[in-house]
Amino acid sequence: MTDAAQQTAKDTPKPKSFTSKAFAAQSKTSPMTPHTVQRREPGPNDVQIEILYCGVCHSDLHQVRDEWSNFLPTVYPCVPGHEIIGRVVKAGNAVKKFKAGDIAGVGCMVDSDRTCPYCRAGEEMFCQSMATFTYNSPDKILGGVTYGGYTDNIVVDQAFVLHIKEKKNLEGVAPLLCAGITTYSPLRHWKVGKGQKVGIVGLGGLGHMGLKFAKAFGAHVVLFTTSAGKIEDGKRLGADEVVISKNAPDVAKHAVSFDFILDTVSADHDLNQYLALLRPNGAMVLVGAPGKPAAVAAFNLIFGNRRLAGSAIGGIRETQEMLDFCAEKGITSDIEMIKIQQINEAYDRLLKSDVKYRFVIDMASLQA
Ligand code: NAP
Ligand code: ZN
Repeated sequence: MTDAAQQTAKDTPKPKSFTSKAFAAQSKTSPMTPHTVQRREPGPNDVQIEILYCGVCHSDLHQVRDEWSNFLPTVYPCVPGHEIIGRVVKAGNAVKKFKAGDIAGVGCMVDSDRTCPYCRAGEEMFCQSMATFTYNSPDKILGGVTYGGYTDNIVVDQAFVLHIKEKKNLEGVAPLLCAGITTYSPLRHWKVGKGQKVGIVGLGGLGHMGLKFAKAFGAHVVLFTTSAGKIEDGKRLGADEVVISKNAPDVAKHAVSFDFILDTVSADHDLNQYLALLRPNGAMVLVGAPGKPAAVAAFNLIFGNRRLAGSAIGGIRETQEMLDFCAEKGITSDIEMIKIQQINEAYDRLLKSDVKYRFVIDMASLQA
Protein backbone atom coordinates (compact mmCIF):
# COMPACT_ATOMS: atom_id res chain seq x y z
CA MET A 1 0.00 0.00 0.00
CA THR A 2 1.27 3.52 -0.75
CA ASP A 3 1.78 5.96 2.16
CA ALA A 4 -1.29 7.93 1.04
CA ALA A 5 -3.42 4.80 0.93
CA GLN A 6 -2.14 3.73 4.37
CA GLN A 7 -3.05 7.16 5.76
CA THR A 8 -6.56 6.93 4.21
CA ALA A 9 -7.02 3.45 5.72
CA LYS A 10 -5.98 4.82 9.14
CA ASP A 11 -8.31 7.85 8.89
CA THR A 12 -11.36 5.94 7.68
CA PRO A 13 -13.40 4.39 10.49
CA LYS A 14 -13.60 0.62 10.16
CA PRO A 15 -17.03 -0.62 9.11
CA LYS A 16 -18.90 -3.13 11.24
CA SER A 17 -17.98 -6.69 10.53
CA PHE A 18 -19.42 -10.17 10.89
CA THR A 19 -17.84 -13.59 11.38
CA SER A 20 -17.41 -16.07 8.53
CA LYS A 21 -16.48 -19.72 8.83
CA ALA A 22 -13.27 -20.57 6.97
CA PHE A 23 -10.38 -23.00 6.53
CA ALA A 24 -6.89 -21.55 7.04
CA ALA A 25 -3.23 -22.44 7.29
CA GLN A 26 -1.62 -21.10 10.48
CA SER A 27 1.97 -21.51 9.22
CA LYS A 28 3.81 -22.77 6.16
CA THR A 29 4.07 -26.25 7.62
CA SER A 30 0.61 -26.59 9.16
CA PRO A 31 -2.34 -28.26 7.45
CA MET A 32 -5.52 -26.39 6.56
CA THR A 33 -7.85 -26.39 9.58
CA PRO A 34 -11.15 -24.73 10.58
CA HIS A 35 -10.88 -21.03 11.37
CA THR A 36 -13.03 -17.89 11.38
CA VAL A 37 -12.46 -14.53 9.66
CA GLN A 38 -14.17 -11.15 9.82
CA ARG A 39 -15.97 -9.78 6.77
CA ARG A 40 -17.08 -6.16 6.56
CA GLU A 41 -20.80 -5.40 6.55
CA PRO A 42 -21.54 -4.46 2.93
CA GLY A 43 -21.10 -0.75 2.19
CA PRO A 44 -23.11 1.14 -0.47
CA ASN A 45 -21.09 -0.33 -3.37
CA ASP A 46 -20.56 -3.78 -1.90
CA VAL A 47 -22.03 -7.14 -2.71
CA GLN A 48 -22.16 -9.90 -0.10
CA ILE A 49 -21.89 -13.32 -1.67
CA GLU A 50 -22.68 -16.63 0.00
CA ILE A 51 -20.06 -18.90 -1.51
CA LEU A 52 -21.32 -22.08 -3.19
CA TYR A 53 -18.14 -23.35 -4.87
CA CYS A 54 -14.46 -22.46 -4.75
CA GLY A 55 -11.85 -23.91 -7.11
CA VAL A 56 -8.46 -25.06 -5.81
CA CYS A 57 -5.64 -23.36 -7.73
CA HIS A 58 -2.02 -24.47 -7.40
CA SER A 59 -1.36 -20.83 -6.40
CA ASP A 60 -3.35 -21.54 -3.21
CA LEU A 61 -0.82 -24.24 -2.37
CA HIS A 62 2.24 -22.10 -3.29
CA GLN A 63 0.86 -19.31 -1.09
CA VAL A 64 -0.14 -21.49 1.87
CA ARG A 65 3.35 -23.07 1.94
CA ASP A 66 5.08 -19.70 1.42
CA GLU A 67 6.82 -20.92 -1.75
CA TRP A 68 6.75 -17.38 -3.16
CA SER A 69 8.48 -15.86 -0.13
CA ASN A 70 10.78 -13.74 -2.36
CA PHE A 71 7.90 -12.12 -4.23
CA LEU A 72 4.67 -12.46 -2.24
CA PRO A 73 5.49 -13.55 1.33
CA THR A 74 2.57 -15.18 3.10
CA VAL A 75 0.85 -13.59 6.08
CA TYR A 76 -0.69 -16.16 8.45
CA PRO A 77 -3.36 -17.22 9.09
CA CYS A 78 -3.78 -17.63 5.32
CA VAL A 79 -7.20 -18.33 3.80
CA PRO A 80 -6.70 -18.98 0.07
CA GLY A 81 -9.24 -19.40 -2.76
CA HIS A 82 -9.79 -17.17 -5.79
CA GLU A 83 -12.15 -19.15 -8.00
CA ILE A 84 -15.39 -18.18 -6.30
CA ILE A 85 -18.98 -18.72 -7.36
CA GLY A 86 -21.85 -17.84 -5.08
CA ARG A 87 -25.24 -16.30 -4.56
CA VAL A 88 -25.70 -12.61 -3.79
CA VAL A 89 -27.36 -12.31 -0.39
CA LYS A 90 -27.03 -8.54 0.13
CA ALA A 91 -26.29 -5.60 -2.14
CA GLY A 92 -25.50 -2.02 -0.98
CA ASN A 93 -27.88 0.77 -1.96
CA ALA A 94 -25.56 2.06 -4.72
CA VAL A 95 -25.17 -1.38 -6.32
CA LYS A 96 -26.63 -1.37 -9.81
CA LYS A 97 -25.06 -4.51 -11.27
CA PHE A 98 -26.43 -7.13 -8.84
CA LYS A 99 -29.42 -7.92 -6.65
CA ALA A 100 -30.06 -10.51 -3.96
CA GLY A 101 -30.48 -13.95 -5.50
CA ASP A 102 -28.13 -13.39 -8.48
CA ILE A 103 -25.33 -15.86 -9.15
CA ALA A 104 -22.00 -14.02 -9.15
CA GLY A 105 -18.28 -14.73 -9.45
CA VAL A 106 -15.10 -13.37 -7.84
CA GLY A 107 -11.62 -14.08 -9.19
CA CYS A 108 -8.11 -13.09 -8.15
CA MET A 109 -8.70 -9.40 -7.38
CA VAL A 110 -11.17 -7.56 -5.14
CA ASP A 111 -10.03 -3.92 -5.57
CA SER A 112 -7.58 -1.49 -7.19
CA ASP A 113 -7.29 2.31 -7.38
CA ARG A 114 -9.36 2.35 -10.63
CA THR A 115 -7.80 5.66 -11.69
CA CYS A 116 -4.23 4.83 -12.81
CA PRO A 117 -3.49 4.24 -16.51
CA TYR A 118 -3.42 0.46 -16.05
CA CYS A 119 -6.78 0.33 -14.28
CA ARG A 120 -8.28 2.57 -16.95
CA ALA A 121 -6.92 0.22 -19.60
CA GLY A 122 -8.62 -2.73 -17.90
CA GLU A 123 -5.37 -4.14 -16.47
CA GLU A 124 -6.19 -3.80 -12.79
CA MET A 125 -3.64 -6.50 -11.91
CA PHE A 126 -0.92 -3.93 -12.75
CA CYS A 127 -2.55 -1.09 -10.76
CA GLN A 128 0.12 1.47 -9.82
CA SER A 129 -1.19 1.55 -6.24
CA MET A 130 -1.13 -2.29 -6.22
CA ALA A 131 -4.29 -4.25 -6.81
CA THR A 132 -5.91 -5.82 -3.77
CA PHE A 133 -5.71 -9.52 -4.46
CA THR A 134 -8.43 -11.78 -3.13
CA TYR A 135 -6.14 -13.26 -0.48
CA ASN A 136 -2.88 -12.30 1.22
CA SER A 137 -3.12 -8.63 0.18
CA PRO A 138 -3.35 -5.65 2.56
CA ASP A 139 -7.06 -5.14 3.30
CA LYS A 140 -7.52 -1.38 2.87
CA ILE A 141 -10.89 -1.38 4.60
CA LEU A 142 -10.70 -3.76 7.56
CA GLY A 143 -6.91 -3.75 8.01
CA GLY A 144 -4.84 -6.93 8.13
CA VAL A 145 -4.87 -9.03 4.97
CA THR A 146 -7.58 -10.19 2.63
CA TYR A 147 -9.06 -13.67 2.98
CA GLY A 148 -10.03 -15.78 -0.02
CA GLY A 149 -12.84 -18.11 -0.93
CA TYR A 150 -12.37 -21.02 1.48
CA THR A 151 -15.07 -19.26 3.54
CA ASP A 152 -18.86 -19.17 3.63
CA ASN A 153 -19.22 -15.49 2.66
CA ILE A 154 -17.21 -12.76 0.94
CA VAL A 155 -17.93 -9.03 0.58
CA VAL A 156 -16.60 -7.35 -2.57
CA ASP A 157 -17.07 -4.03 -4.35
CA GLN A 158 -19.44 -4.54 -7.30
CA ALA A 159 -16.73 -3.37 -9.73
CA PHE A 160 -14.82 -6.60 -9.02
CA VAL A 161 -17.78 -8.97 -9.12
CA LEU A 162 -18.50 -10.90 -12.33
CA HIS A 163 -21.82 -11.80 -13.93
CA ILE A 164 -22.39 -15.50 -14.53
CA LYS A 165 -24.66 -16.26 -17.51
CA GLU A 166 -24.22 -20.03 -17.29
CA LYS A 167 -26.88 -21.30 -14.91
CA LYS A 168 -26.11 -25.04 -14.84
CA ASN A 169 -22.86 -26.67 -13.79
CA LEU A 170 -21.79 -23.75 -11.59
CA GLU A 171 -19.08 -25.91 -10.04
CA GLY A 172 -17.50 -26.19 -13.52
CA VAL A 173 -17.68 -22.40 -13.92
CA ALA A 174 -15.76 -21.60 -10.69
CA PRO A 175 -12.29 -22.48 -12.12
CA LEU A 176 -12.83 -20.07 -15.01
CA LEU A 177 -12.28 -17.22 -12.52
CA CYS A 178 -8.54 -18.01 -12.39
CA ALA A 179 -7.53 -21.01 -14.53
CA GLY A 180 -9.87 -19.75 -17.28
CA ILE A 181 -8.78 -16.12 -17.46
CA THR A 182 -5.08 -16.93 -16.93
CA THR A 183 -5.03 -19.06 -20.09
CA TYR A 184 -7.61 -17.11 -22.15
CA SER A 185 -5.77 -13.79 -21.70
CA PRO A 186 -2.34 -14.72 -23.15
CA LEU A 187 -3.91 -16.72 -26.00
CA ARG A 188 -5.95 -13.62 -26.94
CA HIS A 189 -3.05 -11.19 -26.35
CA TRP A 190 -0.75 -13.17 -28.67
CA LYS A 191 -3.60 -13.59 -31.17
CA VAL A 192 -3.56 -17.37 -31.25
CA GLY A 193 -5.86 -18.74 -33.93
CA LYS A 194 -6.37 -20.65 -37.17
CA GLY A 195 -3.28 -21.72 -39.09
CA GLN A 196 -1.07 -21.65 -35.99
CA LYS A 197 0.66 -24.48 -34.17
CA VAL A 198 0.29 -24.01 -30.41
CA GLY A 199 1.83 -25.97 -27.55
CA ILE A 200 0.37 -26.30 -24.07
CA VAL A 201 2.83 -27.55 -21.44
CA GLY A 202 1.33 -29.34 -18.42
CA LEU A 203 -2.16 -30.80 -18.10
CA GLY A 204 -3.52 -29.55 -14.79
CA GLY A 205 -6.07 -26.86 -13.97
CA LEU A 206 -4.57 -24.17 -16.20
CA GLY A 207 -3.36 -26.59 -18.87
CA HIS A 208 -6.76 -28.17 -19.49
CA MET A 209 -8.36 -24.75 -19.91
CA GLY A 210 -5.49 -23.75 -22.23
CA LEU A 211 -6.27 -26.79 -24.40
CA LYS A 212 -9.97 -25.93 -24.55
CA PHE A 213 -9.35 -22.29 -25.49
CA ALA A 214 -6.56 -22.93 -28.02
CA LYS A 215 -8.83 -25.48 -29.74
CA ALA A 216 -11.84 -23.11 -29.63
CA PHE A 217 -9.70 -20.38 -31.24
CA GLY A 218 -8.92 -22.73 -34.14
CA ALA A 219 -5.22 -23.55 -33.58
CA HIS A 220 -3.49 -26.91 -34.13
CA VAL A 221 -2.83 -27.86 -30.50
CA VAL A 222 -0.06 -30.04 -29.11
CA LEU A 223 -0.03 -31.03 -25.42
CA PHE A 224 3.25 -31.71 -23.64
CA THR A 225 2.71 -33.78 -20.50
CA THR A 226 4.87 -35.75 -18.09
CA SER A 227 1.94 -38.10 -17.41
CA ALA A 228 1.47 -41.00 -19.83
CA GLY A 229 -1.95 -41.61 -18.26
CA LYS A 230 -3.26 -38.27 -19.58
CA ILE A 231 -2.90 -38.96 -23.34
CA GLU A 232 -6.55 -39.86 -24.00
CA ASP A 233 -7.87 -37.03 -21.82
CA GLY A 234 -5.53 -34.60 -23.56
CA LYS A 235 -7.11 -35.49 -26.91
CA ARG A 236 -10.64 -35.30 -25.52
CA LEU A 237 -9.91 -31.87 -24.05
CA GLY A 238 -8.69 -30.42 -27.36
CA ALA A 239 -5.16 -31.62 -28.21
CA ASP A 240 -4.55 -32.71 -31.82
CA GLU A 241 -1.32 -34.36 -30.68
CA VAL A 242 0.06 -35.37 -27.27
CA VAL A 243 3.79 -35.65 -26.57
CA ILE A 244 5.29 -37.20 -23.43
CA SER A 245 7.80 -34.53 -22.50
CA LYS A 246 10.23 -36.94 -20.79
CA ASN A 247 10.72 -38.67 -24.16
CA ALA A 248 13.38 -36.41 -25.75
CA PRO A 249 13.28 -37.85 -29.31
CA ASP A 250 9.49 -37.34 -29.48
CA VAL A 251 9.90 -33.74 -28.32
CA ALA A 252 12.75 -33.12 -30.78
CA LYS A 253 10.47 -34.09 -33.70
CA HIS A 254 8.69 -30.77 -33.11
CA ALA A 255 11.86 -28.60 -33.27
CA VAL A 256 11.46 -25.09 -34.73
CA SER A 257 7.76 -25.55 -35.52
CA PHE A 258 5.62 -23.73 -32.95
CA ASP A 259 4.11 -20.26 -33.28
CA PHE A 260 3.26 -20.13 -29.61
CA ILE A 261 3.77 -22.18 -26.44
CA LEU A 262 1.94 -21.67 -23.14
CA ASP A 263 3.81 -23.11 -20.16
CA THR A 264 1.53 -23.89 -17.20
CA VAL A 265 3.95 -26.01 -15.14
CA SER A 266 3.93 -25.42 -11.37
CA ALA A 267 7.37 -26.95 -10.55
CA ASP A 268 11.00 -26.49 -11.67
CA HIS A 269 11.57 -27.74 -15.22
CA ASP A 270 13.77 -27.04 -18.24
CA LEU A 271 12.49 -24.14 -20.36
CA ASN A 272 15.20 -24.62 -23.01
CA GLN A 273 13.60 -27.86 -24.17
CA TYR A 274 10.52 -25.82 -25.22
CA LEU A 275 12.25 -22.66 -26.47
CA ALA A 276 14.03 -24.85 -29.04
CA LEU A 277 10.62 -25.82 -30.42
CA LEU A 278 9.64 -22.26 -31.38
CA ARG A 279 9.89 -21.21 -34.99
CA PRO A 280 11.66 -17.87 -35.71
CA ASN A 281 9.72 -15.00 -34.07
CA GLY A 282 7.64 -17.51 -32.10
CA ALA A 283 6.78 -16.83 -28.47
CA MET A 284 6.66 -18.84 -25.28
CA VAL A 285 4.62 -17.43 -22.41
CA LEU A 286 5.03 -18.55 -18.81
CA VAL A 287 1.93 -18.64 -16.64
CA GLY A 288 3.14 -21.42 -14.34
CA ALA A 289 4.89 -19.86 -11.36
CA PRO A 290 7.47 -22.14 -9.67
CA GLY A 291 9.18 -20.42 -6.74
CA LYS A 292 12.72 -20.95 -8.06
CA PRO A 293 14.22 -19.00 -11.01
CA ALA A 294 14.83 -20.96 -14.24
CA ALA A 295 17.98 -20.95 -16.40
CA VAL A 296 17.59 -19.83 -20.01
CA ALA A 297 20.28 -20.36 -22.67
CA ALA A 298 20.66 -17.03 -24.50
CA PHE A 299 21.19 -18.84 -27.80
CA ASN A 300 17.75 -20.38 -27.58
CA LEU A 301 16.34 -16.86 -27.79
CA ILE A 302 18.94 -15.25 -30.06
CA PHE A 303 18.77 -17.84 -32.77
CA GLY A 304 15.33 -17.19 -34.25
CA ASN A 305 14.46 -13.91 -32.47
CA ARG A 306 12.36 -16.00 -30.13
CA ARG A 307 10.42 -14.33 -27.37
CA LEU A 308 9.98 -15.48 -23.78
CA ALA A 309 7.28 -13.64 -21.84
CA GLY A 310 4.97 -13.95 -18.87
CA SER A 311 1.28 -13.32 -18.29
CA ALA A 312 -0.62 -12.48 -15.11
CA ILE A 313 -4.30 -13.47 -14.77
CA GLY A 314 -6.37 -10.88 -16.71
CA GLY A 315 -8.35 -7.71 -16.01
CA ILE A 316 -11.99 -7.55 -14.95
CA ARG A 317 -13.29 -6.55 -18.39
CA GLU A 318 -11.46 -9.43 -20.06
CA THR A 319 -12.59 -11.84 -17.33
CA GLN A 320 -16.22 -10.94 -18.08
CA GLU A 321 -15.52 -11.35 -21.82
CA MET A 322 -14.03 -14.82 -21.14
CA LEU A 323 -17.01 -15.86 -18.96
CA ASP A 324 -19.46 -14.75 -21.65
CA PHE A 325 -17.42 -16.54 -24.34
CA CYS A 326 -17.49 -19.73 -22.25
CA ALA A 327 -21.26 -19.43 -21.63
CA GLU A 328 -21.84 -19.00 -25.37
CA LYS A 329 -19.56 -21.91 -26.40
CA GLY A 330 -20.51 -24.23 -23.53
CA ILE A 331 -16.98 -24.26 -22.09
CA THR A 332 -16.54 -25.19 -18.42
CA SER A 333 -13.79 -26.81 -16.39
CA ASP A 334 -13.57 -30.58 -15.84
CA ILE A 335 -13.75 -30.86 -12.10
CA GLU A 336 -13.52 -33.21 -9.17
CA MET A 337 -15.74 -32.01 -6.33
CA ILE A 338 -14.35 -32.26 -2.81
CA LYS A 339 -15.47 -31.34 0.68
CA ILE A 340 -13.43 -28.68 2.49
CA GLN A 341 -12.34 -31.38 4.95
CA GLN A 342 -10.50 -33.09 2.03
CA ILE A 343 -8.40 -30.02 1.17
CA ASN A 344 -5.11 -31.32 2.63
CA GLU A 345 -5.44 -34.57 0.67
CA ALA A 346 -6.26 -32.51 -2.45
CA TYR A 347 -3.04 -30.48 -2.00
CA ASP A 348 -1.04 -33.73 -1.72
CA ARG A 349 -2.64 -34.95 -4.93
CA LEU A 350 -1.90 -31.65 -6.73
CA LEU A 351 1.78 -32.20 -5.98
CA LYS A 352 1.55 -35.60 -7.67
CA SER A 353 -0.15 -34.06 -10.76
CA ASP A 354 -3.13 -36.22 -9.79
CA VAL A 355 -6.16 -34.06 -10.54
CA LYS A 356 -8.70 -34.33 -13.35
CA TYR A 357 -8.48 -31.44 -13.85
CA ARG A 358 -9.52 -29.05 -11.09
CA PHE A 359 -10.58 -29.70 -7.53
CA VAL A 360 -13.61 -27.62 -6.59
CA ILE A 361 -14.76 -27.33 -3.00
CA ASP A 362 -18.48 -27.72 -2.31
CA MET A 363 -18.65 -24.95 0.28
CA ALA A 364 -21.80 -26.39 1.85
CA SER A 365 -19.37 -28.83 3.52
CA LEU A 366 -18.03 -25.95 5.63
CA GLN A 367 -21.25 -26.08 7.67
CA ALA A 368 -20.76 -29.79 8.51
P1 NAP B 1 -1.82 -27.95 -11.44
O1 NAP B 1 -3.26 -28.21 -11.63
O2 NAP B 1 -1.11 -28.58 -10.29
O3 NAP B 1 -1.09 -28.32 -12.82
C1 NAP B 1 0.29 -28.22 -13.00
C2 NAP B 1 0.73 -29.26 -14.02
O4 NAP B 1 2.13 -29.08 -14.26
C3 NAP B 1 0.62 -30.69 -13.55
O5 NAP B 1 -0.66 -31.25 -13.72
C4 NAP B 1 1.65 -31.40 -14.41
O6 NAP B 1 1.08 -31.67 -15.69
C5 NAP B 1 2.71 -30.33 -14.61
N1 NAP B 1 3.86 -30.58 -13.72
C6 NAP B 1 3.84 -30.65 -12.36
N2 NAP B 1 5.07 -30.87 -11.88
C7 NAP B 1 5.89 -30.94 -12.96
C8 NAP B 1 7.30 -31.13 -13.13
N3 NAP B 1 8.10 -31.32 -12.07
N4 NAP B 1 7.81 -31.12 -14.38
C9 NAP B 1 6.99 -30.96 -15.44
N5 NAP B 1 5.66 -30.78 -15.35
C10 NAP B 1 5.13 -30.77 -14.13
O7 NAP B 1 -1.55 -26.37 -11.29
P2 NAP B 1 -2.41 -25.14 -11.87
O8 NAP B 1 -3.42 -24.75 -10.85
O9 NAP B 1 -2.79 -25.41 -13.26
O10 NAP B 1 -1.30 -23.99 -11.81
C11 NAP B 1 -0.13 -24.10 -12.59
C12 NAP B 1 0.83 -22.99 -12.25
O11 NAP B 1 0.30 -21.74 -12.69
C13 NAP B 1 1.10 -22.80 -10.76
O12 NAP B 1 2.47 -22.51 -10.56
C14 NAP B 1 0.23 -21.60 -10.40
O13 NAP B 1 0.69 -20.90 -9.27
C15 NAP B 1 0.39 -20.78 -11.65
N6 NAP B 1 -0.64 -19.76 -11.84
C16 NAP B 1 -0.25 -18.61 -12.42
C17 NAP B 1 -1.16 -17.61 -12.70
C18 NAP B 1 -0.73 -16.36 -13.42
O14 NAP B 1 -1.44 -15.35 -13.32
N7 NAP B 1 0.34 -16.41 -14.16
C19 NAP B 1 -2.51 -17.80 -12.34
C20 NAP B 1 -2.87 -19.01 -11.77
C21 NAP B 1 -1.94 -19.99 -11.53
P3 NAP B 1 1.40 -33.07 -16.47
O15 NAP B 1 0.94 -34.17 -15.55
O16 NAP B 1 0.57 -32.94 -17.69
O17 NAP B 1 2.87 -33.08 -16.76
ZN1 ZN C 1 -5.25 -19.19 -9.37
